Amino acid sequence: MQGNLNVQTENIFPVIKKFLYSDHEIFLRELISNAVDATQKLKALSSRGEFKGELGDLTVEVKIEKKKLIISDRGIGMSADEIEKYINQIAFSGANDFLDKYKDVQENLIGHFGLGFYSAFMVADKVEIDTKSYKDVPAMHWSCDGSPEFEMKESKRKERGTDIILHIADDCKEFLEEHRILELLKKYCRFMPIAIRFGEESVWVDSETEFNEVDDGNGGKKKEPKRVEKKQPRIINDTDPAWRKKPADLTDEDYKKFYHELYPMNFEDPLFQIHLNVDYPFNLTGILYFPKVRKTIDPNRNKIQLYCNQVFVTDSVEGVVPEYLMLLHGVLDSPDIPLNVSRSYLQSDSNVKKIAQHISKKVADKLEEMSKKAVGNENENEKTADTKLSTFNSQLEEKWDDIKIFVEYGMLTEEKFCERAMKFALLKNTEGKYFKLDDYRDKVKALQTDKDKNVIYLYATDVDEQHAYIAKAKEKGYDVLLMDSVLNSHYINLLEQKIEKTRFVRVDGDTVEKLIAHEDSIPEKLTQEQKDKLKPIIEGEVDKQRYTVQLESMESTDQPMVITQNEFMRRYKEMSQTSGGGMGFYGELPDNYNLVVNINHPLIEQVLNEPDAEKQKQLVHQLTDLALLSNGLLKGEALTQFIKRSVEMI
Ligand code: ADP
Repeated sequence: MQGNLNVQTENIFPVIKKFLYSDHEIFLRELISNAVDATQKLKALSSRGEFKGELGDLTVEVKIEKKKLIISDRGIGMSADEIEKYINQIAFSGANDFLDKYKDVQENLIGHFGLGFYSAFMVADKVEIDTKSYKDVPAMHWSCDGSPEFEMKESKRKERGTDIILHIADDCKEFLEEHRILELLKKYCRFMPIAIRFGEESVWVDSETEFNEVDDGNGGKKKEPKRVEKKQPRIINDTDPAWRKKPADLTDEDYKKFYHELYPMNFEDPLFQIHLNVDYPFNLTGILYFPKVRKTIDPNRNKIQLYCNQVFVTDSVEGVVPEYLMLLHGVLDSPDIPLNVSRSYLQSDSNVKKIAQHISKKVADKLEEMSKKAVGNENENEKTADTKLSTFNSQLEEKWDDIKIFVEYGMLTEEKFCERAMKFALLKNTEGKYFKLDDYRDKVKALQTDKDKNVIYLYATDVDEQHAYIAKAKEKGYDVLLMDSVLNSHYINLLEQKIEKTRFVRVDGDTVEKLIAHEDSIPEKLTQEQKDKLKPIIEGEVDKQRYTVQLESMESTDQPMVITQNEFMRRYKEMSQTSGGGMGFYGELPDNYNLVVNINHPLIEQVLNEPDAEKQKQLVHQLTDLALLSNGLLKGEALTQFIKRSVEMI
């Protein structure tokens, strides 16, 4: 029999080729999905008793034979009627959709158009189907050379199932190369639910017939089987991936093992994971892993992979999950995410939105639960009340340093997540203790409320560099937070907005008296006249571009001179560095410091009263250098000079 395919367009194949050019390779995914579907249908019929024959070996096989690529399955097969209905008539409904769509989205076309069977014509100039249905009807042979005409006749085939034979076109020879096909199978079919075989692989095993003679350790000899190479069928997929299993059936080890199966090139274990399993109002399974997020944010490594019923679709999940979740690793599998559309459509799809919200909520749930559970307490029922009193860290505290950037990023970019996270996000102080936001406020508000009723959160970004300042603040009974993430300045701004009457000040932002301005100020030992005399003496010895001299009334036991940096200038400068553009002006500014002089210190009085101008100069120099030194600002030539001068003075 010969016939015409039911297509409106004269010849659709050039169109298929042209528009799906960049994604030619998906033909293999489409054809193997069909083979897998046909096999699963047969299994379903068999388990319902509607198919009574032997199932036999159901492995789908992919073969390269000269210029042909062949995909064989032992599924339900097709009768002549079915070929007529599904291939000759219906199959082109997909193509017609495609033609409709490409009219308005020409440029944005992405490959996933589900042309199904006909995508074979992207790479083949002739396609044959040789098939025998599981029903007792004649086997059929169909072929088509890419024009709208096809040929159909009875086949001699005896075995149930279908062979799809592609005569690969000359400009698509890559699809006849073993390594290329293997690469595609690994990409698209790695977790398909029916075993897929492609060629053979070698394994090394103990021989049953050949032996080596080796020392037995007692001066004698013994026989040991030789290691020999053995060929075995190469099965390219894991038909039962972890995300499809019940969480109760999986151990932590199983999750880790699967993680490494997903990302064979990543040797670090994930911190923990969330197993997603929803069937209403949409269908979603998957496992999201939390990796260690250190100083840098790199969402391009180990990306989340999106599957549709175990068929790989893409690993660009932009628009499917919120941006901050792209820092996570793992798999999402949903038949409810529309795959055959452009990305902008995807982003506005209501199912996709619901799925994104669901994932975001699950992530918040997990983190909140971890903030309640103590380490080592795996029992869900024994939480909250007890663990609050216990001396154990919560699970979240244990992992906080490794995931804080993730939480901070989420809070900065997702309003809803931020709301939830305000309840579990942690602050860490310079002593290594963790606090929830509310608890921290309660802890510090007595001593650290200033005269305007703002609670001042002191923080350091580097414990070693800011050591002297931290010590001073602690002497006062203040607590100092450690805030050292890359998102710091943005995150601090966010917290200042979210927590009313709160200000963050870095410990070296001012002298300890002024960090938190209480009512009572310290009486000054110098008169205005003396101060006016002192200031130019000191200014004469420092680089005025870099340092602004400030006279302050501090405790006489405090340091004679201290270097501080304006909180807001510093923070804006940092923000302009991490956000790139927009705030460039601040980024351009040179570093600027205050040189704060403690007018109540006896050495400052000595400077003022020193009659010998040379000695006075030397003293000022020595004091400023000491201040610079404790701030890590004294370097190179200046440092050498300082040491030399110090030795001379001693
Ligand atoms: P889709 O798979 O999206 O339905 P296709 O064009 O890929 O569209 O396939 C059309 C139909 O042809 C399938 O729904 C199925 O009924 C039939 N079919 C395709 N390949 C096979 C196969 N290997 N075995 C049995 N039936 C098949």
